[in-house]
Amino acid sequence: MLKIKDLSVRYRGSREDALSSINLTFQTGEFVCILGQSGAGKSTLIRCINGLQLPSTGTVSWNNQDISTMKEEQIRNVRREMGMIFQHFNLIPRLSVLQNVLTGMFGYRNTFKNLIGWFTDEEVKRAKQVISDVGLNDLMYRRVEHLSGGQKQRVGIARALLQQPKLLLGDEPVSSLDPGTSNHIFTLLQEMHNRHRLLTIINVHDFELARRFATRLVALKDGKVIFDGIPEDFKDKQ
Ligand code: ADP
Ligand code: ADP
Repeated sequence: MLKIKDLSVRYRGSREDALSSINLTFQTGEFVCILGQSGAGKSTLIRCINGLQLPSTGTVSWNNQDISTMKEEQIRNVRREMGMIFQHFNLIPRLSVLQNVLTGMFGYRNTFKNLIGWFTDEEVKRAKQVISDVGLNDLMYRRVEHLSGGQKQRVGIARALLQQPKLLLGDEPVSSLDPGTSNHIFTLLQEMHNRHRLLTIINVHDFELARRFATRLVALKDGKVIFDGIPEDFKDKQ
């Protein structure tokens, strides 16, 4: 469903490729962790998948359609099928859990709808359901600025799930959380992955976490794939 072919990315002004000849195919139902040290190219790969970064060469195809040749309108539709979660959560601090989750419905540019309450009962009902799914039922109306890091990421996950995505992408979603909380968040991601048969692709730099949860590991180094396989076969811890 997601096919990356001969993908290379070189940033303007840089003398080296951030990603170099990447070939990867991902299928529904996989829980993939992308491993690699800082600068390995993990974020660049995620941004190529959701169309925020264009390839220098090569293609990224989503259901056999090349994302880089899509018009803005089409990309927006594709992004609706891709839920994103972030290292720093990207929430709006002064808004409640429910309001933040509802922003997932229209994208960040339309958050004003949220402030003036332009949501149907059905939309609000769905948002409440995903909030409950991530275990934040009792914090629905709390401003997110008052939540712990783990709770904030649960809000991020609920927001991503609201659109019923087919792919869940995470760019270092637990890097600012402590190990115990990271473990809780991954347990939740695994639960959602299993329940919705989501393709899940998450960047991490914690190998142990990746090994515990992933069905497949992809390791990057200097923009190249140095490992792609099941966690049991990954021996080179660098
Ligand atoms: P990771 O997510 O594994 O830390 P990145 O994808 O962020 O790696 O970065 C890969 C390489 O590309 C690094 O060498 C980084 O310095 C470079 N890079 C990332 N973003 C930019 C950018 N916007 N402009 C120029 N170079 C960048
Ligand atoms: P953290 O450890 O940062 O609090 P976790 O990722 O461990 O975050 O998530 C567990 C948190 O979620 C708990 O701290 C708890 O406050 C909150 N939580 C879980 N379930 C519920 C619930 N049903 N109602 C309210 N809060 C909940």
